[in-house]
Amino acid sequence: MKKDAVFIFSEEQLGYSFSDTHPFNQKRIVLTLDLLKNMHAIHDKDIVAPRIATDEELLLVHEPKFVEIVKQAGKGEVGPEVGSVYGIGTEDTPIFSNMHEASAMLVGGTLTAVDEVMQNRARYALNLGGGLHHGFQGKASGFCVYNDSSVAIRYLQKNYNASVLYIDTDAHHGDGVQWTFYDDPDVCTLSIHETGRYLFPGTGHVTERGNGKGYGTSFNFPIDAFTEDESFLSIYETAFREVAEWFKPDVILTQNGADAHYFDPLTHLYGTMEIYKEIPRLARELAEEYCEGRWIAVGGGGYDIWRVVPRAWSHIWYAMKQLPAPTGRLPEAWLNKWQSEAPVPLIETWEDPNPLYKPIPRKLEIEEKNAQVMDRSLHYIRSEQQPR
Ligand SMILES: [Zn+2]
Repeated sequence: MKKDAVFIFSEEQLGYSFSDTHPFNQKRIVLTLDLLKNMHAIHDKDIVAPRIATDEELLLVHEPKFVEIVKQAGKGEVGPEVGSVYGIGTEDTPIFSNMHEASAMLVGGTLTAVDEVMQNRARYALNLGGGLHHGFQGKASGFCVYNDSSVAIRYLQKNYNASVLYIDTDAHHGDGVQWTFYDDPDVCTLSIHETGRYLFPGTGHVTERGNGKGYGTSFNFPIDAFTEDESFLSIYETAFREVAEWFKPDVILTQNGADAHYFDPLTHLYGTMEIYKEIPRLARELAEEYCEGRWIAVGGGGYDIWRVVPRAWSHIWYAMKQLPAPTGRLPEAWLNKWQSEAPVPLIETWEDPNPLYKPIPRKLEIEEKNAQVMDRSLHYIRSEQQPR
């Protein structure tokens, strides 16, 4: 029988670990899954173990030499000079033991999610271990080695002849995925992110629209630092609806980084749990409208692993299960289990404390600027009504 949703997980996903002090920490998947279990929202039968991606699959996107170097690095055979050419052994993306196997496991998780959906075993699939959107074809970058979304998109094209709409709501620009498909008219990438003026990776301008035959299929919405829920959601909803209507995808792949929250230590956006409640609900709705439901979601950034990510990512699962969004207090058992380990007081309710921060004097100015960014980015499909 076809399931409504599957959750891709095994302990092996936790092997993707740079160090105990690195901000990218896969413990957030364990915290999320445990929260869902304590809510009785997930059961063992919903969980599917990921497989490891084969070399052949990685090479759909990645350059052979890069894969070779990552393999050697994981065995301690690559020095800093060679490593830095390939983006590894850097401060952001240090080398760790079995780096290749751990990275290929995250890719395999997203491929497992793809197969579950495309072979009609599940309507929706969630791989929180994926979302490594900064990985380039020949280079690692920004905590990301192999790019699971890029490989999954090529895999969807090759094995299922599917056109893919990729939606990236991580606070950082989804550069790795965008550049990989910049020339490809059958893949549409949409990224909403904090402007690259002061934030890694610096790209994601409105003017990055694709190249050659792929011109028009890359959309960027760089929003201002301190952007709040209303403005974020208005751009997200308008852009997602208009681009989906224009592109008419076969499948939707969403990258659900959870680092646009006010608490996130690496970014400067002022999102609250409200955006994380709404983001997956619209994705599900539009997947139903355009793709007969086919929706795959992956994780991504999210560096307040205690107060933000478990609640934010749980909302994706609730949307997939078509359950009402949870409200009120988090389960006592979850709070009791993790509070002693958390370096900060946990938030005890599904909603954020209100108010979460002091009012921002530049609120209106930011909203207006963001609205202009949105209109500029959508201008092409609105005015020229380019047929697909
Ligand atoms: Zn990010």
